[in-house]
Amino acid sequence: MTRLKIAIQKSGRLAEKSLGLLERSGLSFARSKDKLFWYGRNLPVDLLLVRDDDIPRLLLEGVCQLGIVGENVALEKVLENRRRRPEARLEPMLKLEYGHCRLMLAIPEDEEFQGPGQLQGRRLATSYPFLTRQYLDTHGVEADIVPLNGAVEIAPSLGTADAIVDLVSTGTTLRANHLKAVDEVLDSQAALYRTPGTLDPDNEALLAKLLTRIQGVQQAAETKYVMLHAPRDRLAEISDLLPGAESPTVLNLEGQSDRVAVHAVCTEQVFWEHLEELKAAGASAVLVLPVEKMLA
Ligand code: ATP
Ligand code: ZN
Repeated sequence: MTRLKIAIQKSGRLAEKSLGLLERSGLSFARSKDKLFWYGRNLPVDLLLVRDDDIPRLLLEGVCQLGIVGENVALEKVLENRRRRPEARLEPMLKLEYGHCRLMLAIPEDEEFQGPGQLQGRRLATSYPFLTRQYLDTHGVEADIVPLNGAVEIAPSLGTADAIVDLVSTGTTLRANHLKAVDEVLDSQAALYRTPGTLDPDNEALLAKLLTRIQGVQQAAETKYVMLHAPRDRLAEISDLLPGAESPTVLNLEGQSDRVAVHAVCTEQVFWEHLEELKAAGASAVLVLPVEKMLA
């Protein structure tokens, strides 16, 4: 059996969260400050720290067996690779719920948007030429793509493009450049990818084990352990407000016959959405605890 390699971003928006996720999944690495390669100490799994743009190629070529990268980068690079290798593809094994961003079409703020059709024959600046081409093709539009590596949002004011396709999170940069986002090209987040080819059985088994662990940690991050006191006669109502959990644990409270303690596992979002209703149903002494790991 050979050692597995996982590629993550060395520094940038995804770097810290990706490393944290792997470490919480029980992987431990011999860190070396400047090197791109961290040796795995407790499992035959090593880390490769690279630019995010290189991760899709490392996976497609089988240099790394696992990688964490934004869907935006993975899709763009797969489309780029298809020119040489039409069969190139990468499927996300798991979306990771961080690194959210949207690739948007933006036009000058004083223009009206009537649909992608108005881009016909115009110039579009972007760092995502392949995703942009795919978007245009989907809408049957022919436009000139001006590929740029950075500062895409200043292209319209410089007169080198009529519109742009760029990543947007808050829209502040767009506004500063008198642009407005008008259509979504891609909704993206960080995801875990594997190399497309099959590995030898031992490595496949190790990869499956890692996936289960990472899934468990990721699921736990969104999950809370909720403890509260409830009137016994409103138990059914309160259980219904804590869904996503398997049947909640109900415990007697010493010296109180009309109230019980309820313990349940549920997603954080569900909990906040139902907090007011829980209170209205008579819940008190509410405690919300983090869950470190979960096995389904
Ligand atoms: P590298 O040096 O590794 O090439 P980079 O400058 O290309 O880094 P970052 O800015 O660190 O990349 O962003 C990495 C990823 O984070 C993006 O590809 C995207 O998936 C995600 N992301 C989340 N929010 C944003 C945002 N507001 N702007 C850009 N990327 C974002
Ligand atoms: Zn990059």
